[in-house]
Amino acid sequence: MERKTTGLFDSWQRQINYLRISVTDRCNLNCIYCSVGEILPLRHEDILSYEEIEKVVRAAAEMGINKVRLTGGEPLVRPDFCKLIRIIARIDGIDDISLTSNGILLGRYAEELKEAGLKRVNISLDTLKRERFKKITGRDKLKEVLAGIEAAHKVGLEPVKINMVVLQGINDDEVVDFARKSIDEGWHVRYIEFMPIGTPNGEVSGMVAAQEIKERIQVLGKLEPYVGPEGNGPARYYRFPDARGTVGFITPMTEHFCHTCNRLRMTSDGNLRPCLLAEDELDIKEALRNGVSTNGLKRLIQQAVNMKRKEHNLDGKIAPETNGRPMCQIGG
Ligand code: SAM
Repeated sequence: MERKTTGLFDSWQRQINYLRISVTDRCNLNCIYCSVGEILPLRHEDILSYEEIEKVVRAAAEMGINKVRLTGGEPLVRPDFCKLIRIIARIDGIDDISLTSNGILLGRYAEELKEAGLKRVNISLDTLKRERFKKITGRDKLKEVLAGIEAAHKVGLEPVKINMVVLQGINDDEVVDFARKSIDEGWHVRYIEFMPIGTPNGEVSGMVAAQEIKERIQVLGKLEPYVGPEGNGPARYYRFPDARGTVGFITPMTEHFCHTCNRLRMTSDGNLRPCLLAEDELDIKEALRNGVSTNGLKRLIQQAVNMKRKEHNLDGKIAPETNGRPMCQIGG
């Protein structure tokens, strides 16, 4: 049967083809800049089931969503997570399924994930130093993350991208070490500007601008602009001469990329969220639990997309309203 895709557009004529789903708010790390503080984990019954997620993705795919990213919390701590990949991989119209993970459990699951239909993975890693890893994340798991990166490469979850959130005085002295990995080991490193959310007490504040990082890492050579690796995200990529890997910069603070935004988010407790950095959300869990039809779901999806603002209101100084939600619930 021919798939009817009309395309999903927001009020600013941006085409929305990418759905990011937070599958859990729980995590096996407790990073200083992403910690939930006093907020209790969501109750299991408040989290969307795999069947409910499937319904939403099916409706979204009929509207023109063709890329899905699973995130969290840590997606791999959700029981039987590979089952969800298998379900989504079978949905007509979805041709790219990716994962954002801290990598700890990838050594165990990479092969099964690949078989299930996962295409590629982004792994978050902020330091290459064991003691510092413990300080940032609260756990002694650097070895497992490095094993996870290897496992992802081994089974071909390519391109494997390594996401580093750069924090002044905490890990910014390692930006060159990460860049060197793009030369020596073919890593695709992405430097992410820290956003002032998820740190209610303001204990972490030191954003380092991408431009500064770019200047600092060029002690290793002159960076050349590079197209790719595969992906449709906001990163700008470069490469050192003869490097197999790349370095990318994600600049939500110093140069927002809202005009190219192609995404819609879904929180683990079933809210469509048009923008990471705006408080607007549209509840769809209630409709799902009241037996909403596919057409009803499509109307809700379009309604959420219509709520997308032209751009977010982060200007480098103002902490945005995130509706009291930590990053792990929204999905980073
Ligand atoms: N557990 C998975 C992981 O570690 O990749 C997925 C969820 S995590 C919230 C997704 C990404 O958001 C990570 O790369 C994390 O470093 C990033 N992140 C969390 N809080 C952030 C902040 N305030 N500013 C920038 N990036 C942040």
